[in-house]
Amino acid sequence: MTQINIEKLIADYPLVQKLIDLKQVAWFNPSVTTTEAGLPYVGLTLEDVKDAQARLSRFAPYLMEAFPETQVMQGIIESEAVAIPEMQAALAARYQTPLTGKMYLKKDSHLPISGSIKARGGIYEVLTHAEKLALEAGLLSTGDDYAVLFSDKFRQFFSQYRIAVGSTGNLGMSIGIMSAKLGFSVSVHMSADARQWKKDKLRSHGVNVVEYEQDYSIAVEQGRKEAEKDPSCFFIDDENSSTLFLGYAVAGLRLKTQFAEKGITVDEQHPLFVYLPCGVGGGPGGVAFGLKLAFGDAVHCFFAEPTHSPCMLLGVHTGLHDAISVQEIGIDNITAADGLAVGRASGFVGRAMERLIDGYYTIDDAEMYNLLGLLNQTEAIRLEPSALAGMPGCVHVTRNQAYLQAESLAPERMANATHLVWATGGGMVPEDEMQKYLSQAKGN
Ligand SMILES: *Cc1c(COP(=O)(O)O)cnc(C)c1O
Repeated sequence: MTQINIEKLIADYPLVQKLIDLKQVAWFNPSVTTTEAGLPYVGLTLEDVKDAQARLSRFAPYLMEAFPETQVMQGIIESEAVAIPEMQAALAARYQTPLTGKMYLKKDSHLPISGSIKARGGIYEVLTHAEKLALEAGLLSTGDDYAVLFSDKFRQFFSQYRIAVGSTGNLGMSIGIMSAKLGFSVSVHMSADARQWKKDKLRSHGVNVVEYEQDYSIAVEQGRKEAEKDPSCFFIDDENSSTLFLGYAVAGLRLKTQFAEKGITVDEQHPLFVYLPCGVGGGPGGVAFGLKLAFGDAVHCFFAEPTHSPCMLLGVHTGLHDAISVQEIGIDNITAADGLAVGRASGFVGRAMERLIDGYYTIDDAEMYNLLGLLNQTEAIRLEPSALAGMPGCVHVTRNQAYLQAESLAPERMANATHLVWATGGGMVPEDEMQKYLSQAKGN
């Protein structure tokens, strides 16, 4: 790997100095293009996302058997979008910025099975792999009722195969629980930031949890190495997987239907702003791709990262993508937002999505905790710290007159806007852990 010349990097990109100083920054991408111009660079299409959606539908009867909590949704793993007017008012007061339009929370935090956005991509990739193995073995055809997979016969079949993944916690939870349920032998390589209760929960499902004292990159690397030694082992590559990405992208298409049912209009006169917490990038990148396919230029996507882990902002802003890590510019990648504790972004996602993301910003840990407390107080909704990163996004947008002008977002249009904060996790945090989180909130 080439050595990074930090002085030159700062001279070329003065914002990098602010990242090094751990300042909360916002960067609106000047190279953002129209949806039409940007989509071809993704390398995936609407057909691919529809294919993923169809695969998830095929698995719905299985999921209803294997996870009875999915029965209310007919085996479809999907979350609600709820209005949060009290929080919107509290944010406007906190940041002394009038916030027009209507704010909603997308509660991926409360998705069944694993309680985070990873219940989209992670579970989808395991199902895709299982389907492929069963089809190739001639044990299944796509026209079958997939409920048959919930049987000793199939558990026996899948037990010959292994799955491995590296994770800061939530991806491991989704992949571990799903894989073990199908019958796979599964190893989850957990980085130092992973919470103890997540490891305990996985072990209770019969998952092999391997712990590291280093960060996410090391956990992924070790997982990859272990898998390479064993041809029966499938490694789920969070940094490069287009399958994970497609699993997340389905959310975008479904949101269109969900909003239509709720009577929420999204078009040129009614813009939609979506604020997505970003770790390695697959989750927010995939969701944003789906949103762009569904809503085109009417949707504006923003990525939010901790001040201690701004890997995507750094990679996209400097154009270096995965050729640079936050550690290489002296940032420690230590954050309470464990789902976002990633030092090097996915090069695949950064390159695929850079033209389609309007902006990026950072938020410090103390503020995530404060917002966690504020959301609990105003709306009685409890999330994990990572999931609050999207919350100040609407303030950055509202304050940026140059951006609003460039995008023809006049006040009349902003008055019709929908601001959607993607709440990425927290629904399964144990009560004692949640009390610790809440006790970190100050000044509410
Ligand atoms: C993983 C995760 C994210 C971000 O997803 P990436 O694919 O890593 O970018 C955001 N929030 C939570 C709670 C997560 O677990």
